[in-house]
Amino acid sequence: MSPTAYADFHARSLTERDAFWAEQAKRIDWQTPPQQICDASQPPFARWFVGGTTNLCHNAVDRHAATRPGDRALIWVSTEVGQEKVYSFAQLQAEVEAMAAMLLAQGVGPGDRVLIYMPMIPEAAFAMLACARIGAIHSVVFGGFASVSLASRIDDAVPTLIVSADAGSRGGKRVAYKPLLDEAITLAQHKPAAVLMVDRGLVPFERVAGRDLDYAELRRRHDGARVPCAWLESNTPSYTLYTSGTTGRPKGVQRDVGGYAVALAASMDWIFGGKPGETYFSTSDIGWVVGHSYIVYGPLIHGMATLMYEGTPVNPDAAVLWSLVEKYQVTVMFSAPTAVRVLKKHDAVLLKRHDLSSLRALFLAGEPLDEPTARWIAEGLGVPIIDNYWQTETGWPLLTVAHHIPGVEAVPTRLGSPGVPMYGYDVKLLDEQTGVELTGPDQKGVLAIAHPLPPGALQTVWGDDARFVNTYWRSIPGREVYSTFDWATRDADGYTFILGRTDDVINVAGHRLGTREIEECISGHAALAEVAVVGVADQLKGQVAIAFAVLRDAALASPALEGEIMKHVDAQLGAVARPARVLFVTLLPKTRSGKLLRRALQAVAEGRDPGDLTTLDDPSALAQVKTLLHK
Ligand code: ATP
Ligand code: MG
Repeated sequence: MSPTAYADFHARSLTERDAFWAEQAKRIDWQTPPQQICDASQPPFARWFVGGTTNLCHNAVDRHAATRPGDRALIWVSTEVGQEKVYSFAQLQAEVEAMAAMLLAQGVGPGDRVLIYMPMIPEAAFAMLACARIGAIHSVVFGGFASVSLASRIDDAVPTLIVSADAGSRGGKRVAYKPLLDEAITLAQHKPAAVLMVDRGLVPFERVAGRDLDYAELRRRHDGARVPCAWLESNTPSYTLYTSGTTGRPKGVQRDVGGYAVALAASMDWIFGGKPGETYFSTSDIGWVVGHSYIVYGPLIHGMATLMYEGTPVNPDAAVLWSLVEKYQVTVMFSAPTAVRVLKKHDAVLLKRHDLSSLRALFLAGEPLDEPTARWIAEGLGVPIIDNYWQTETGWPLLTVAHHIPGVEAVPTRLGSPGVPMYGYDVKLLDEQTGVELTGPDQKGVLAIAHPLPPGALQTVWGDDARFVNTYWRSIPGREVYSTFDWATRDADGYTFILGRTDDVINVAGHRLGTREIEECISGHAALAEVAVVGVADQLKGQVAIAFAVLRDAALASPALEGEIMKHVDAQLGAVARPARVLFVTLLPKTRSGKLLRRALQAVAEGRDPGDLTTLDDPSALAQVKTLLHK
């Protein structure tokens, strides 16, 4: 039998939606099977697997512990403190049950929120799974966030309890969490009744009597505790998680139980091609959606071991990630273009130092993957590099190339494009102004998704249905579709190319250009490690492009190089796209999740207030830009 074309498979996922997802629902255990596959009767809301009861922790841990108790489940490596630990599924279940017992003893019940403010340590995963086990809603806040950001998230989640630790560590530097947490609780309106503290012995801290609990002591007290999984209706909220805050105030995404479990299980198999018993390694952080979907839940639900890494890609040296691949026989790896660009500043030989024969593919997401970076890492590693595009909101990839669907033709990768719409996503390219669907090749528009969003996507904005409806579904005139707020184009074969955020579109004398187009072009220059382009108000042309470039060797910065880069853009994209200036910097402003903060660059370049900077990672990057601009 000849294989089905992917386009036909995708079309069936939409036209025979319920039958399609009913099959996928069999990938997980249900206590009560779903009565209805999708309730789309109240757009833009959607409810998946209605009436079915299940549990994320059961599917991630218990069901594997029952059949393969000794197999590896969680591998933890910290190059920051020089420790490694391996937990089998049975050991992981014991840890999770003990933590669940602690939460219950503190009066945490179903539907209660637990805020997790933790470094990348096993207890963070135990806490997430323990919440899932008892039906509490976790809200993980990226560790090391400043107290003001943390305070606003405490007030948004209103947690019964907070789980935290004395400190995290980054690049060998200890970051004390407890003072930040204490300060945040002081600032917040809501005061949680209890704080469960994991003491790593890194930084001494003060305990607040009557509020702060010692994890080690409670762990001993609850050793051997048995806590059954709570069977939850599929649409019960499982967690809330904030977007990265790249474009403004972060949005608190709310996720369900059943739809999320099914979507992750399908993606682990069809998109990532992972196999139970193998090891999956995502370099993200549990504070981000990749950490939720592909460090904790996805790999474990699929019966894989997950490698949780506390450390940077360059410590002790720029080969550390590959040494872990070799040591733990990682088969599937997930990282971000920003991490690869960091490695690109080091010798490519480091990519070849370790035996990577176990590795089948490296998936990259989070930001546009420029062609030079894609080529560099593909050549260095010798495995397929698979770009995938998605959002905190969607929970799993929306555009990529699924290579592991049995009987379905694999869509080849195409440089510069994350790929084609994944099954379940009814993706549209629309004119932002008129809402008209763009079907011809190479037209530019906003990437949108028709109702209903597939399983695993956000249910709503936590505590704010109106924000969910108004922000995401009402931005394109005349149509109720979900806007990704990303600008894109599609080629004749249906590959989508992301051009930048809709906020970042530059309008030079009537020509609309995506920042990404210019960045992609400039980054082709061999001297560059990284570049950011923003549109800046200009009296004559409306807007002009300004480029901020990080050189591989900072000493090469010169007016001649600036001219050369401008000429390069002229030749490739035409004079309209030519940046008015190319400024050489050593650092670009990024969010804590490593995304370019273009809006901050733009504001500074226009002499405006850069707005909410609570997600800015290193303030010195912006200071540097200010100095340069006002020289
Ligand atoms: P906020 O919504 O708070 O402004 P954010 O959009 O950066 O922050 P995330 O949900 O972490 O928060 O990131 C999703 C966005 O990242 C996408 O909308 C897109 O702009 C970008 N992105 C993710 N993956 C890719 C990719 N493979 N190629 C291009 N862009 C990507
Ligand atoms: Mg976003």
